[in-house]
Amino acid sequence: MGKGGRLMNWNLDYDICALLFTSTLMIYFNYRKWLPLIRNRLFFLLMCTSTMVALTDVISSIICEKGASFPISLIYISNMIYYIILGFKPVVFTFYIFSLARYPVGRFKYRGDWLLLLPFLATCLIVLSTPFNNKLFVVTAEHQFVYGEFRSWMFYVTALYLFISACVVVANRKNLRKVVLFSILFYIFCSLMGYIYQFFIYGYAQTVSLANTVGILIVFLAFQNPDYDRDRKTGLFRESCIRKMKDEDTLYGVQRSVAEVAFENYLTLKAVYGDEIVSDLSSKVGKYLLEAFPKENQFYVHNGRFVMIFSGGEETVLRYMDVVRNRCQKPFYYGDVSIYLSPVFAYTLDDVEIVNQPILRDSLRLAIELALQKGKGAIVRLTEEIHQKAIRNSKVEKALKTALNQNNLLVYYQPIYSTMEKRVTGAEALVRIYDEELGLLYPDEFIPMAEEKGSILMLGDQVFRQVCDFVQNHDMDGLGLSFIEVNLSPFQCMRENLAQELENIMKEHGVNPKYIGLEITESAASNIEIVKTNMDYLVELGVKMALDDYGTGYSNLINILSLPFHVVKIDKSIVWAYFNDENDFLLRVIQTFQNRDLRLVVEGVETEEMAETLGLLGCHYEQGYYYSKPVPQKEFVRYVEEKQWNRDKR
Ligand code: C2E
Ligand code: MG
Ligand code: MG
Repeated sequence: MGKGGRLMNWNLDYDICALLFTSTLMIYFNYRKWLPLIRNRLFFLLMCTSTMVALTDVISSIICEKGASFPISLIYISNMIYYIILGFKPVVFTFYIFSLARYPVGRFKYRGDWLLLLPFLATCLIVLSTPFNNKLFVVTAEHQFVYGEFRSWMFYVTALYLFISACVVVANRKNLRKVVLFSILFYIFCSLMGYIYQFFIYGYAQTVSLANTVGILIVFLAFQNPDYDRDRKTGLFRESCIRKMKDEDTLYGVQRSVAEVAFENYLTLKAVYGDEIVSDLSSKVGKYLLEAFPKENQFYVHNGRFVMIFSGGEETVLRYMDVVRNRCQKPFYYGDVSIYLSPVFAYTLDDVEIVNQPILRDSLRLAIELALQKGKGAIVRLTEEIHQKAIRNSKVEKALKTALNQNNLLVYYQPIYSTMEKRVTGAEALVRIYDEELGLLYPDEFIPMAEEKGSILMLGDQVFRQVCDFVQNHDMDGLGLSFIEVNLSPFQCMRENLAQELENIMKEHGVNPKYIGLEITESAASNIEIVKTNMDYLVELGVKMALDDYGTGYSNLINILSLPFHVVKIDKSIVWAYFNDENDFLLRVIQTFQNRDLRLVVEGVETEEMAETLGLLGCHYEQGYYYSKPVPQKEFVRYVEEKQWNRDKR
């Protein structure tokens, strides 16, 4: 406020403008339901105080202007209120900045925290003592407002708070998004400019509030608009907000229950009715949940999954599940189409330690996957076991990422024995990862992860290069090896230029394609067009193609026989079932392929008896622990050298 010694000189236009802006913004912010985080609360408080500063400035200025018609005490009181609110605003801002920097605001956990309030308390003291010592201002006997010697105090205190805030954001710049960092610095700059102009350049223009409002507007537009946290389709909070809420709960030591609902038939509905109808369905479910539980925090997770974070215990969870189940007994409508949803649930209550673990979201996701596997109506309470599994998954994922980034996947080799030549003539390359903490990791654990996260292409590429390296650097014929088999994921097979990419890698290494075999599973062979084109190209080069894990899926023989396979690998489960006297499916498989021009490989050969019997049954190749487990490259070479040497001696 720049109430000068002379009357009628104050320009209130800026203040009125600021008042309009902040109050509108404040009303809009509150009208859109915002995520109840401390930082959002403080931002709202900041808008409220800013509005109050502008409002009290206008009121006190008018009272000063028309001083003659008001008692002196009223002029004092109105100005004192204004100064206290003006002094409070930078405190709110500083607390807001601390909350952005994930510091438990208001907890006063550390002894020095209280110091932060001292400058504001000093302001209060100065303001409250002003009627007695006239330090900040004085109202003369003629009802005239005149500044006192402490006029600049407000500026210095504000500058101090802004300085502290700037230090906090700069110190935390690595944890803050760029847009947050820059908009906050912009706010600080605007505020300072407003003060400097009003206090030191042109004392009668009330620019403090307006400059501040511009800062608030930028922060609002940059990242504080509550709509940014909402899923447009359903009106619920976005999935990313679950993390934000849970982070804050952890920071403040608050424990809250979490429940998730998914629909067992959601993906089927998506396949049948298409995206648009099913997406409309999600928004209907979302709106229904919002109406049923208006006070709880609800989130939309993709693919028709909903999460609720709440403070109640088991009875709230039961009510939540009841409400959803009851609603799902009736259909949802899209035009004339009526659709039934079949819900499953996962939840955890606030009485366990798990709820505030950073991994909670993953644990809950695992629990809901379990519920989905169990099927209709399933309810899974998050257990320590599921939680531990989620922790392990996240560690494995990290190990996978590191191994790929550092290009240090391990490739093991498992010998493949030829029953005709009675010696090892090939091998299968099998990938592993070594992690300091977890030890040796097996592909069954990380390949599905790589497929889900999209890193399988990189993995396939690195494995294939290592195998080419091996072929390039060893005398294959000298070792008596005629092929090394490499597994391809269905995701690799779907790439249109897979064949050319593999060809380039072989060329780079000067590898003759006749030494390379590629294994694909039936699931990959289902996308017949692209796979056939790729296979034809590779076969033309001289690569041998093998159908892996035969017998584990629903085989479509016509499909398979239309593809240029050289080899069929019979899955170990079929081999074992035969030797355990469970069934003789193995015999039928052997019969099916024997008369065609296909070589048969049996997997899982673990004993001498199995090895001999399978040879007699007419299998061309055998692979299994009886010969050797998959071993590192050096060990494999030693194994082959030793065996081939024994053979020559024999
Ligand atoms: P697969 O291609 O069917 O490989 C055979 C699996 O059976 C290997 O498991 C091997 O260690 C195991 N095995 C072989 N003989 C025996 C035996 O006598 N007894 C028992 N109990 N097991 C035996 P591994 O290495 O854990 O690999 C599992 C699967 O992971 C592979 O099944 C393959 O589908 C996949 N995989 C491995 N390496 C790669 C790769 O580089 N890329 C891709 N996309 N998948 C890979
Ligand atoms: Mg294989
Ligand atoms: Mg296999």
